[in-house]
Amino acid sequence: MAKIVTDVVCPFCGTLCDDLEVALDDSGEKILEVYNACAIGATKFLHSQAEDRLTRPRMKQEDGSWKDVTYDEAVEYTAKMLVDAKKPLMYGWSSTSCSAQSIGSELGEEVGACMDNTATVCHGSTLIAVQDVGVPSATLGEIANRADRVVFWGCNPAHAHPRHMSRYSIFPRGFFTGKGSKSRKMVVVDPRKTDTAKMADIHLQLEQGRDYELLSAIRIAIRGEKLPETVAGIPAKTIKEVADTLKSGRFSVIFFGMGVTHSLGKNHNIDIAIAVTRDLNDYTKAAIIPMRGHYNVTGSGQVWGWQFGYPFCLDLSRGFPRYNPGDSSSNDLLIRDEVDAVFTLGSDPGAHFPVGSVKKIAQLPSVCIDPHITPTSAVSKLHVPVAFVGVEVGGCAYRMDNVPIETRKVVEPPEGMLTDEEFLAKVLDRVKKIKGVA
Ligand code: SF4
Repeated sequence: MAKIVTDVVCPFCGTLCDDLEVALDDSGEKILEVYNACAIGATKFLHSQAEDRLTRPRMKQEDGSWKDVTYDEAVEYTAKMLVDAKKPLMYGWSSTSCSAQSIGSELGEEVGACMDNTATVCHGSTLIAVQDVGVPSATLGEIANRADRVVFWGCNPAHAHPRHMSRYSIFPRGFFTGKGSKSRKMVVVDPRKTDTAKMADIHLQLEQGRDYELLSAIRIAIRGEKLPETVAGIPAKTIKEVADTLKSGRFSVIFFGMGVTHSLGKNHNIDIAIAVTRDLNDYTKAAIIPMRGHYNVTGSGQVWGWQFGYPFCLDLSRGFPRYNPGDSSSNDLLIRDEVDAVFTLGSDPGAHFPVGSVKKIAQLPSVCIDPHITPTSAVSKLHVPVAFVGVEVGGCAYRMDNVPIETRKVVEPPEGMLTDEEFLAKVLDRVKKIKGVA
């Protein structure tokens, strides 16, 4: 009879759903089915079982073909690449455990790397705003139980975080939200009519890039002061209706995504969204939470926060941490030709960076540590497949609301495969030996 593993945590998006059930075959080695997960979450588990999965590192040859190498050879190449580089870039860190991130930090410090995570192209502006002005926040558990006014600003959870609305924000019956979605008013702010926007009580279809103006107008409306006839394409009457809706709730929450972190204004949009949340706290309880993407991008910021004092865009090349987004961010470093080697783990810059940056990765000595074949592995000189964190090895990850959750191991990795943590520990050990400090 199939064995069911319960209370499994999904290692895909920042929602970190912790109620999955995974059915295994009689041997306990093969995943048959994943229950409770959304389509993207389930696919991650099932993908670990793919027949054509790589189980050993491979090195790109002169003619572009790949040659299998041992893990020891991969460790040697990576360690030498990092030691030989004057300023290596170590990028990613968002789809792995906090303990792997921690060993990676030690490695980065040892070789004087620039270290950056995927926040650099998503919620980096949020982190800057939070450092500038602080943040009134809450946990997703509080939202499920209390929030009766829910705003989704520049995000589309119906597609990007498919179970967010059903587990936490719109549909669950909470202690004070006993009627589920009927207890709540939903406002969506998005220039596009997304599937999330179609579900909203109020959809503010603002003009592209005018988030700052609209947030300012909502602040004015909350105070009951006079507005121009329209702001960002939205009539004053509708803006007042939204302000009144948010003020009249018992608990309002603003969830926001890359539609606002990366539109015109960037971190200033988040500054003012936090100001709106603070203003609302004069009338009711209100919180604001970023919709983080990778399942442990939040943990990466936490680990570097403890260890270096900054959550992303770290420059350790002078032997102490410096932080200057826009200068020490991955794309700026790549485009300015300031880094001479690229190490990627737990992310796919090949799919998300501008083509100019990807071309630079292709030209430099480069290593990609990833269980999947990705655009990044395709342009890297060495590809090191590793065990899936949250499927084949456990480890701590931080949910989008900064709650740490221990992910579970469900099945064994293919025989002889290393985990991120094991590979990083071997590279660190080798780097110390090469430098004569071990
Ligand atoms: S919403 Fe996110 S964490 Fe939850 S099952 Fe889907 S992908 Fe996984």
